[in-house]
Amino acid sequence: MAINWTEAQIAEVVSKVLAQVQSPAQSSDKEWDSTQYHGRRLIGVYDTMEEAIAAAEAGYKAIRAMSVAQREKLITTIREYTRAEAPAMAALGVAETKMGRVEHKVAKHILVADKTPGTEDIVAEAKTGDCGLTLTERAPFGVVGAITPSTNPSETVICNSMGMIAAGNGVVFNPHPGAIATSNYAVDLVNRAVHAAGGPEVLVASVKKPTLDTANVMYKHPAIRLLVCTGGPGVVKAVLASGKKAIGAGAGNPPVIVDDTADIEKAAKDIIDGCTFDNNLPCIAEKEVFVFDNVADRLISGMLKNGCYKLTRAQADALVKVVLDEKTNPKTGKTSLVVNRDCVGRDARVILAKIGINVGPEIRCAIAEVDFNHPFVQEELMMPILGIVRVKDIDEAIDLAVKAEHGNRHTAHMHSKNIDNLSRFAKAVETTIFVKNAPSYAGIGFGGEGHTTFTIAGPTGEGITSARSFTRLRRCVMADHFRII
Ligand code: NAD
Repeated sequence: MAINWTEAQIAEVVSKVLAQVQSPAQSSDKEWDSTQYHGRRLIGVYDTMEEAIAAAEAGYKAIRAMSVAQREKLITTIREYTRAEAPAMAALGVAETKMGRVEHKVAKHILVADKTPGTEDIVAEAKTGDCGLTLTERAPFGVVGAITPSTNPSETVICNSMGMIAAGNGVVFNPHPGAIATSNYAVDLVNRAVHAAGGPEVLVASVKKPTLDTANVMYKHPAIRLLVCTGGPGVVKAVLASGKKAIGAGAGNPPVIVDDTADIEKAAKDIIDGCTFDNNLPCIAEKEVFVFDNVADRLISGMLKNGCYKLTRAQADALVKVVLDEKTNPKTGKTSLVVNRDCVGRDARVILAKIGINVGPEIRCAIAEVDFNHPFVQEELMMPILGIVRVKDIDEAIDLAVKAEHGNRHTAHMHSKNIDNLSRFAKAVETTIFVKNAPSYAGIGFGGEGHTTFTIAGPTGEGITSARSFTRLRRCVMADHFRII
C-alpha cells in the first residue's frame, strides 16, 4: 500500500482538485462552501442539526428493514467509492486545512477502505446449559452522534460511518469547522455509495456550519442514543459530561524508547517514517524519544540520513516561541502553552523557515536534543518536530516515557530486542496501542496486523474501535429448550 508519489504527481492532483472546488470566496481564505463540490449539491448536509438528525433517523429506520447481507453490500460500496475518490479527498483535505501531506492522506483513505471491519465484526454469543439457550446479540443504538477532528477529517467520517452502519445505525456528524468542506464531502460520498448499493438516499448527515451550539443540540436530542467523540481533551470532556452514553477518543503524546539492543539504523528510519507520516497529524505518531546514552549518537546520525535537520539548543528554544503560544486562564490567572494552529501539520521546511532556517523538501523533520521538561517532550505538537532525551538505562527510560505520556493511555512505541525491557515498558505505560520495532502507523494496521480505525478510544476503553463498539447488547432467553445435547 506504499504510495510514493513524486512532487509533480502531487501537484497535479492538488491543482485538479483546487480547480474544481475553488470559488472566489474560497481562494481568498474565507469560509469554504460545505454544501457543494464542483457545483454539485452534497447529499446529507443540512442547515440545522435538527434537520440532520431527522434525516439520519429516517435512514436508520430504512436500514432496519435490510438484511445483514444487504448491509454488507453498503459497506463494500463505501470501500469502492473511498478507494476511487481517495486522491480528491486527500487534496481537498490539505487545501482546506493547510495541514498534512496529500500522498499520506491518500494512503490513509485506502487504509480505511481496506481495513475497516464490516458486518463480520458483529458476532452473537450463545450460552447453553441445563436451563436452555440464551442468545446475546449486538443491536444498533439507532442514531449515533459523532464529533470528528480536523486532523483526519474525511478518514474519520468514512471510518466511523462504515463501523456505525455495519452495526446497523444511522449517523449524524458535527465535524470540525476547520475541515467542514472535506468532512461533508465524505458524508456525501457515504450517502452516494449507500444509495447506489440499494440503501436510503441519506443515512449519514451533517450540518453546513457546525458550532458548539449544533454540538449541544446533538448532545441533548432524544433521538441520539450514543455519542462518539474523536478530538482533543476539551471536546472529549464536554461529550463525557453530556449525560449520554459516550465513546471518547482523545489526545495522546506517544513516547518512543530506544534501548541499546535495538537495530539502531532501522529504529531511526522507523521513528522518522512514523513521526512524519501526514506531518505528524495522527494521534498515534511518535512525539518524543528516550534513547540510551550509549546509542544516542548513532540514532541521531541515522535520523539525519533520513531527512532530519538537527536544531541547536538555541534554535529549539526559538522554535518553541513560534509553535507554542502562552495563554492565561482569566479565572485562575494560570498560564499554559497552547499549540499555534498555523504550525500544526505543516511541512518541516515551512516551520523551520519561521525561524530563518531555509532547507529543501528533503528535510521532513526537525529534531532536537532536549531535557525532559522541554515543551518538545511535554506538549502534543502534531507537527514534524521531535524532542530527543538521553537516558542512562531502562529504569530512567520507562520512568520518563510514562510521565511524558501524561496518563492519556493512548499510544507508546519501543525499539529493542530485549523482551524483558519490552514487556516492562508495555506493562508500565498502559497504553491502548503499543508498537514494537515498527513505525507508529503499524499500530493502526498499516504494515502491522489487525484492523484499522481513526477513533482510538482510550479514555472510555473501547480501544481500536470497530462496528461492535457501536452496538448495544441484547439478550433473548429460551428456557428449557433448544439444546441439542
Ligand atoms: P479539537 O479537539 O480541536 O476538535 C475536535 C472537534 O471538537 C471539533 O469538531 C471542534 O470544533 C469540536 N469542539 C471543541 N470543543 C468542543 C465542545 N466543547 N463541544 C463540542 N465540540 C467541541 O481536535 P483537532 O485539533 O481537530 O484534533 C486534534 C486532537 O484530537 C488531538 O489532541 C489528537 O490527539 C486528537 N485525536 C484523537 C484521536 C483518537 O483516535 N484518540 C484521533 C484523532 C485526533
